[in-house]
Amino acid sequence: MFTNFVFFVLNSYILNIMMQLHIMNGKCKMCGESIEIPDDAIVGELVECGGCGMTYEISAISNGNVSLKSAEHVGEDWGE
Ligand SMILES: [Zn+2]
Repeated sequence: MFTNFVFFVLNSYILNIMMQLHIMNGKCKMCGESIEIPDDAIVGELVECGGCGMTYEISAISNGNVSLKSAEHVGEDWGE
């Protein structure tokens, strides 16, 4: 299918750009948005979701894969 072919080319293109920029991505647990993590990010650094503003702490980095854990205790208290 032509649509599949375009999708495949587009995917390869995006993947290639991401490899070149060395950007690691994690996904937001709240909204599913990809969180851009700079190449020089370190474990313990806080990153913010561009979609919903949720704050995550980088818990581990290995071979381009980054593990995020939510840092809900940082910032606003949502109240109980
Ligand atoms: Zn989000």
